[in-house]
Amino acid sequence: MPEPMTPTLYCEPCPRCVFHAWQLIERGRLLWRSEWECDTCGFGAAETCHLDGGRGLPPAEVRAAVVAAEGTVLLPLRGAPAPALKVFRDELGLTMRELLAAIRDGYRATPVEARHLTALLQESGFTVHPG
Ligand SMILES: [Zn+2]
Repeated sequence: MPEPMTPTLYCEPCPRCVFHAWQLIERGRLLWRSEWECDTCGFGAAETCHLDGGRGLPPAEVRAAVVAAEGTVLLPLRGAPAPALKVFRDELGLTMRELLAAIRDGYRATPVEARHLTALLQESGFTVHPG
């Protein structure tokens, strides 16, 4: 006997929900996507499928999921000329303080960010060697 269907509001992920997040480069732009997937509840069901996405750096929790899945590489920025740094800063929307920290310590990029930023910096005349 099938269970009677009861209307349920899916406002929150259940414990079996899985959060996926990833980044991609499309037409020279850094993009991010995230979605919930679940075989149990409606929150992560294909028809509701809590998809989200945007341009540039993802929100902190999305980026954390990408970092957890893919790790980071360090982009050393010491010696980068001003035009390259401006492109780098604009692309990521960094504050001046964040930019200075990135120049001092390098920037911890996800693999997709590293690929994107490496290409941008290269176009601005700076060759970065991710480590
Ligand atoms: Zn669920």
